[in-house]
Amino acid sequence: MGEKCPVCGKGVLNPTRVREEMFGVDLGTYDAEACDRCGESFLTGESMDRVEARAKALGLWGLAAKVKVGRSGNSLVVRIPSPLARYLKIKNGQEVLVAPDKEKRLVLELA
Ligand SMILES: [Zn+2]
Repeated sequence: MGEKCPVCGKGVLNPTRVREEMFGVDLGTYDAEACDRCGESFLTGESMDRVEARAKALGLWGLAAKVKVGRSGNSLVVRIPSPLARYLKIKNGQEVLVAPDKEKRLVLELA
């Protein structure tokens, strides 16, 4: 008999395997526990460490960062942190396309 689900509080957690991805990159499958009621799944502590190690090995760890919006003339400026710029190979002066995607999301498309 497994632990109670911390999300719905009704189901029981059973061992399973889940596929993890980060920024659309497949990180593999890992040991986890899934609720038999709501279906929510939770990585084991060891799996979390392994996901982190795999993401670091692939250069994905820490690429998401909070940045502040600044001003340049009449436009607003968002800085792209250097690890992210290196990962996406964005160069100074490069032309990119910025466009809205849903209500609270901005897409930056590289040529
Ligand atoms: Zn549940």
